[in-house]
Amino acid sequence: MNECVFCKIAKGEIPAGAGKLYEDDNFIAFLDIKPNNPGHALVVPKNHYENIYNVPDEVLKNIAPIVKKMTVAVKNGVNADGINIIMNNDGAAGQIVPHAHFHIIPRFADDGLRHWIGKPYPNKEASTKVAEKIKNSF
Ligand code: AMP
Ligand code: ZN
Repeated sequence: MNECVFCKIAKGEIPAGAGKLYEDDNFIAFLDIKPNNPGHALVVPKNHYENIYNVPDEVLKNIAPIVKKMTVAVKNGVNADGINIIMNNDGAAGQIVPHAHFHIIPRFADDGLRHWIGKPYPNKEASTKVAEKIKNSF
């Protein structure tokens, strides 16, 4: 795993992207080097987990308040109108760095970023079928 860029940042082997924002024993937050908007931050567990599927519940429990703290700090720090919190899991979902992380993206009323397009279900039967499949997968 020593090729992992976020592990290297967590261990202090390379500097934290565009600037470190927060650090404790288990987590680190820093500015994304290619921000969607200025202030775009990443919150990262220091231990290497590839994505949400293998992050232990305990780690998720502990990261949630840090994500919230960073969300408030980013919103106030750059005077954002809103915040998107995003986690990409797997390449198909846009994950590039295979070390679990949350994106905190400040949004501005006129920033030009667009949400993905919604694709409605063709009918009630189709959505019921999907809901059943998901409920049977817990
Ligand atoms: P994802 O697509 O969810 O894997 O997002 C990875 C993010 O990490 C991208 O937005 C990159 O711009 C960002 N990134 C990659 N390398 C670094 C780095 N060394 N420092 C800060 N951000 C980085
Ligand atoms: Zn890693």
